[in-house]
Amino acid sequence: MNVQLTNMQTRDVEALLHPYTNAAAHRQVGAHVIETGKGVYVYDEHGREYLEGMAGLWCAGLGFGDKELADAVAEQVHKLPYYHLFAGRSHEPAIELAEKIKELAPGMARVIFQSSGSEANDTQVKLAWYYNNALGRPEKKKIISRKKGYHGVTIASASMTGLPYNHIDWDLPLDRFISTGTPHHWREALDGETEQEFSARLAHELEELIEREGPETVAAFIAEPVMGAGGVIVPPAGYFEAIRPVLEKYDVLMISDEVINGFCRTGEWFGADTYNVNPTSMSLAKQLTGGYAPLSAVALCREQAEVIEQHTGKIGTLGHGFTYGGHPVGCAAGVAAIRIYQERKILDHVRKVAPKFQGHLQRLKDHPLVGEARGVGLIGALELSPDKSGKKTFDPAGKLGAKLMGELVARGVILRAMGDSLGFCPPMIITEEEIDALFAPMEECLDATLAFAKAEGLV
Ligand code: PMP
Repeated sequence: MNVQLTNMQTRDVEALLHPYTNAAAHRQVGAHVIETGKGVYVYDEHGREYLEGMAGLWCAGLGFGDKELADAVAEQVHKLPYYHLFAGRSHEPAIELAEKIKELAPGMARVIFQSSGSEANDTQVKLAWYYNNALGRPEKKKIISRKKGYHGVTIASASMTGLPYNHIDWDLPLDRFISTGTPHHWREALDGETEQEFSARLAHELEELIEREGPETVAAFIAEPVMGAGGVIVPPAGYFEAIRPVLEKYDVLMISDEVINGFCRTGEWFGADTYNVNPTSMSLAKQLTGGYAPLSAVALCREQAEVIEQHTGKIGTLGHGFTYGGHPVGCAAGVAAIRIYQERKILDHVRKVAPKFQGHLQRLKDHPLVGEARGVGLIGALELSPDKSGKKTFDPAGKLGAKLMGELVARGVILRAMGDSLGFCPPMIITEEEIDALFAPMEECLDATLAFAKAEGLV
């Protein structure tokens, strides 16, 4: 389809290379240029309104145009627009935010800041290596992640990401990064296998992998409590309870990637609380600042933090840090976002509206094109499938997901297709009426996608 591009779209294709975009197709259809936002809505260059059902990239938990959050950012820009934390310097927004994180994340003793989720996860890898060097275990360096897990796109974090597009033609994963199975019961369980049995099998497979690799070579296991970009995959019953003792047995660190899960999304402060993850460290980003300024953090348990602190004493310095890690504007946004989560009782609100949100998803499970509806709190997905068994997939994958997403945009709803799974992650301030509005066009869009699937011979 060749469409007449607007002036803005022409400037866009001539000047930008877009992430996660097919550049050739983009040149034909042009960018969707968003200009403003208010609450759960954003507005494009033509003034059209869209309900932003993904909170941008899973980050704008307080929606768009929040005055209190915007003012906190502006105030910090005027007061101290930049400073750093290198060589013992500090500033109050970083101190206050680290204190807040410690207060909310049980078991976490120290916080080190970065700017992005990828940098947080690269930092996790480096700190796991540094920790084991400090302990005199130079062989203990391998990192285990899960297929379909998403941990970022820098070289180490992309090595942990378990999705094909992040490896194909990027010469990744690096050595020392290995993967284990996806905890997706509907897709991966054996016939008749209960969730508990499936969890036990995955834990057993993890143990076999660690034994095969040699426990003295395995440093850490990283997992999102609820997998996000892999298709919003909710762990089966007993999963982390089964995994945790295996990690403890072999002295393997447990990194909880809370970049999407963190800050009320799953109905608790962290996904680790919802699923008994009991991590040794956490990666935080996105809703940490509500998306109003870039910031990420690694929170470490006391034991790991103390070993690292002592080791810097021996070496002379912690040879790691980013110019913008702990940027005062990002930290001020983080402090304000957490204050707002607490003062406006966002956690209670998520718990209150989640049944309506999850109810809408479950109702759509009966549509002939929907194989599975899943979710927790205010995050969820519909997976399109040729049948309900979980054993079949569309070929080519992703065509119907893209079609469904297009139908929704045409009706004023922005969601994200991950292959043939349609993700939902609205701003957490969403009201029950807005949840109804988010789902209102869904059946019509699924019907249109089903008609397209029939015309294309996909069903
Ligand atoms: N971890 C998770 C769980 C994520 O969802 C993401 C981003 N979607 C990242 C890490 C990487 O974050 P960033 O894009 O800020 O580098």
